Amino acid sequence: MYGMGEHSIIEAAARLREAAERGCENPDLRGIRGTMWRTGKPADIPSGAVFLPSFEEIKSDVQAYCRHFVLQEQNADPFSAALLVEKSEERYVVQEPPSMPVKTELFDRIMELPYTREWHPDYTEAGGIPALAEVQFSLTSSRGCFGACAFCAIAFHQGKLIQTRSPESLVREAETLTTRPDFKGFIHDVGGPTANFRIPACKKQAAQGSCRGRQCLGAEPCPNLSPDHGEYISVLKKIRTVPGIKKVFIRSGLRFDYIMLDPEGKSFLRELCEFHISGQLKVAPEHSSDRVLKLIRKSSNAVYHSFEKAYAAMNRQLDKKQYLVPYYIAGLPGATIEDALHTALELKKAVLYPTRCRIFTRRREPWRPACIIPASIRIQVCQYIFRGEPMSAVFREPFCSSTERKTANWLRKRSVFSNGKICLRFYDNRKVASGPRI
Ligand code: SF4
Repeated sequence: MYGMGEHSIIEAAARLREAAERGCENPDLRGIRGTMWRTGKPADIPSGAVFLPSFEEIKSDVQAYCRHFVLQEQNADPFSAALLVEKSEERYVVQEPPSMPVKTELFDRIMELPYTREWHPDYTEAGGIPALAEVQFSLTSSRGCFGACAFCAIAFHQGKLIQTRSPESLVREAETLTTRPDFKGFIHDVGGPTANFRIPACKKQAAQGSCRGRQCLGAEPCPNLSPDHGEYISVLKKIRTVPGIKKVFIRSGLRFDYIMLDPEGKSFLRELCEFHISGQLKVAPEHSSDRVLKLIRKSSNAVYHSFEKAYAAMNRQLDKKQYLVPYYIAGLPGATIEDALHTALELKKAVLYPTRCRIFTRRREPWRPACIIPASIRIQVCQYIFRGEPMSAVFREPFCSSTERKTANWLRKRSVFSNGKICLRFYDNRKVASGPRI
């Protein structure tokens, strides 16, 4: 099974039960959305299937890998996806189209199952699972993402269509949390992959699925995108008035460009600054160079700066001292030394002193790529291995590998390796100033 799996599990369980009642020992589990199966007989493959490049081809041919990715990308929407087939040696792996999105009623039922919110007792002796603290008192309000970030695979396993829980279900879960003896009155998060995506990108997406080959919120927003935070604001209001709750935070990622596109975005920003952050708001512009931002399908640096201004103005208005903490990725495929310096100078201008910087890729001797982001099916992996843009029919001028290597070397010389992460000393004025002028 792949994707979120609930519909697939329910259908498979029903078929197994029905087969058991009939006394059938080999129930047919083919044809269930969100599942894959294997066959050695070409005759088993339904007509209309789309054949991907074979496993042997993608192992040895970068262009075949990119074609494979593009076909997967084009067939990831449950409303329009075809059956996909990949050959390996003499066998075929058949991928059924993705499951349809869950409706609110089912989502509510899934999320309100009696989870213990504890780690498995097997981990107690080893001190438990520290990461649990982040999610133990958090509420999942949505899933799916129509953002088009080139390094993220959420849309592949949760879908682009936003699936949401009802406000009533979120309030019920918040009330349950208040009855726990270890609850201190703080809800740590109300969100999902992108906290402020609570409604579909547009009416068309809700009815017919996402557009093939178009991005709802990429480097340029689709003109049909209809940003609206009204429903999210009302959900947050309901949760924070539950007796026993002192504060409700939002820690999931927020798309600041979506806030800026909403004609009523200022109301959301006010709610956010007044009630839902605790001194710092982390946002992810990811890079400051517009060239790189376009490659990773993110909005321009100017949009980030306009949000920065709006955020500062709102905090002034509310008389609050709250800061914006931007998150950047270094070494993105296609980024050059100039792009790295651009970000360094942006940080200097903003008087920000990073101690660690996430790097997308780095090379290990003997020059084998090592990707620290677990992204096997993302467009940036294609950009990295192909050194070009896999989505265009005609591949563009390949990225300059020597420039990329120079960037990596520059970063390496001015960095301290620690636990696989790179600490960049961007705050060293002398080193930044010694780079080329931008
Ligand atoms: S019309 Fe635009 S916003 Fe709507 S699904 Fe298509 S790309 Fe997304």
